Amino acid sequence: SSVYEIRNVRKVYKKGKRLANDDISFEVEEGEILSVLGPNGAGKSTLVKQMMAHAKPTSGSITLFQRDVIRHSREVARHVGYYAQEAWALANLTVREAVLYTARLRGISRQEAERLTGIWLERLELGSLSDRMIKRISGGQRRLAGLAAVMVGDPPVLILDEPTNELDPIKRRLVWDIVHEKNRENGTTVLLVTHNVLEAEQVVDRVAIINQGKLQVIDSVANLKNRV
Ligand code: ADP
Ligand code: ADP
Repeated sequence: SSVYEIRNVRKVYKKGKRLANDDISFEVEEGEILSVLGPNGAGKSTLVKQMMAHAKPTSGSITLFQRDVIRHSREVARHVGYYAQEAWALANLTVREAVLYTARLRGISRQEAERLTGIWLERLELGSLSDRMIKRISGGQRRLAGLAAVMVGDPPVLILDEPTNELDPIKRRLVWDIVHEKNRENGTTVLLVTHNVLEAEQVVDRVAIINQGKLQVIDSVANLKNRV
């Protein structure tokens, strides 16, 4: 069954009158790793922002577990771990506080949130940085801290927008291992936004290619390779 249903989504930004998403329709199936692939400016971030109810489609609709995301935006925030490309907003907190804050937003009790925060900071090798201010750590470390916040509490759906940008190969491997493990062991559904074809190919089940705001094709990696 499908987790997300995207139906005829169009997004026109008033500023610049840009058609950022042009009649996009597809479904995200439960338990899959789906990559949204396309060049910079294709409309990928616009699409996932709407899936998070951070922006409203000009027309069309998006449902998560059969519910309209705009009308149920708090549940979306609770059930979907969203990793955005932009710098993190919680810059005035320590690494630990930031992850703890996200856990509490997901409705996890104080004690359990503290325990899980400790586990995720260790897992992402941020233990020694946990009392540092977010704004005082490097860009790569901030990305890992952001991922710890996304992962804490094991949300059933992950939307990761370019999660490994700025990370060295060893940290990239660590991130992919975690994503794979969650998908395999918890059945976590993952939507991975990337412009890196090679990286996507190794981790995903299906690929949706977006170009100039349009969904060009959506299919399994194997089928897409056979076409070429
Ligand atoms: P809307 O048309 O959906 O109301 P706005 O034009 O008000 O969106 O822009 C929302 C935000 O996005 C503003 O903070 C704006 O500075 C920023 N923004 C504007 N143009 C771009 C762009 N081309 N790419 C990314 N962000 C942009
Ligand atoms: P991608 O994530 O694939 O790089 P985006 O969704 O960020 O693409 O952008 C799609 C198009 O919409 C681009 O032309 C971009 O400049 C424009 N755009 C993105 N955000 C805004 C905004 N807030 N206001 C106006 N234009 C925007």
